[in-house]
Amino acid sequence: MRIFDPHIHMTSRTTDDYERMADAGVRALVEPAFWLGQPRTSVGSFVDYFDSLIGWEPFRASQFGIRHHCTIALNPKEANDPRCREVLDVLPRYLLKDGVVAVGEIGYDSMTPAEDEALAAQLALAVDHELPALVHTPHRDKAAGTRRTLDVVKEVGIDARRVLVDHLNEVTVGLVRDSGCWMGFSIYPDTKMSPPRMVEILKRYGTERILVNSAADWGRSDPLLTVATAQAMRDAGFTADDVDRVMWRNPVEFFGQSGRLELTADPPAATFAGSSILRGGD
Ligand SMILES: [Zn+2]
Repeated sequence: MRIFDPHIHMTSRTTDDYERMADAGVRALVEPAFWLGQPRTSVGSFVDYFDSLIGWEPFRASQFGIRHHCTIALNPKEANDPRCREVLDVLPRYLLKDGVVAVGEIGYDSMTPAEDEALAAQLALAVDHELPALVHTPHRDKAAGTRRTLDVVKEVGIDARRVLVDHLNEVTVGLVRDSGCWMGFSIYPDTKMSPPRMVEILKRYGTERILVNSAADWGRSDPLLTVATAQAMRDAGFTADDVDRVMWRNPVEFFGQSGRLELTADPPAATFAGSSILRGGD
């Protein structure tokens, strides 16, 4: 089983996590830029963080045979802080870099006018740079936030097939499916989506355009919940091919739209049995 975690914040995880992920079959991941727990006070703080997402973190992942990619953006929470807004001018420089496979995570936190503006501006940046976009949906008022997100996607005119709307649940999945956007689900240890609930969604909606991630960060989270969900799919009667589609080929297809996924170089053949096929995009 090969796993591609399309949303995980490795900056906040230890090398033990990388090791456990590699042992369990995680071979590639996408780390979206987000907040730091405490507020940033200047644009320099973003610059250092972005540099670590394209330099240090891929190196750390490579030591465990995991391919690391990232997405770059002003996150929804900090879109409200005037000290952070200037980072919008810095983003184009990073959106050209190898290893940056989307604009993200963008979207809504409290659904303020400042967030509206930052979301629209960054979706437009994705169009300009021919990159997909990773959109976070708010924890409060999720249905309203999702509807508003889909309205902005339409207004900006970005192709829905290049947009991944993340952190969905039973209430919001249908809206996103009908929009033509990709559907992301974050599996958590005790809140939001769990492996059994995810399996029910897959039974009802199928495996097309669906991505599953652990969204692990500094909070209570578990980088192996992708693996647990894959197992729950098998236990519920999904085939190995269904699991491979959701856990590998779907994220490869979505982020492959950037033209920058690197899944062939330095295959970790020595540590993983049967890992010769790492090229994706088909
Ligand atoms: Zn996140």
